[in-house]
Amino acid sequence: MIEPGYYSETKYCPRCDQYVRYLQSIQACYCVECGSKVSLFSTADRKAFLAKLKKEKEARNPDRRQVS
Ligand SMILES: [Zn+2]
Repeated sequence: MIEPGYYSETKYCPRCDQYVRYLQSIQACYCVECGSKVSLFSTADRKAFLAKLKKEKEARNPDRRQVS
């Protein structure tokens, strides 16, 4: 039986090339499958996330240079 929230408790492993369960240590998180360091997002997802943040920021502040 899969517990609620199971799939949100994953991070991206570049070696497995998928979102995996991970072990949390003080300095980093490691894939339970292969032991590689995992990241919160895949490269593509990180780009999309940052692009979204940038877009939202620009939407809030269309041109800050004219303030002041
Ligand atoms: Zn892995």
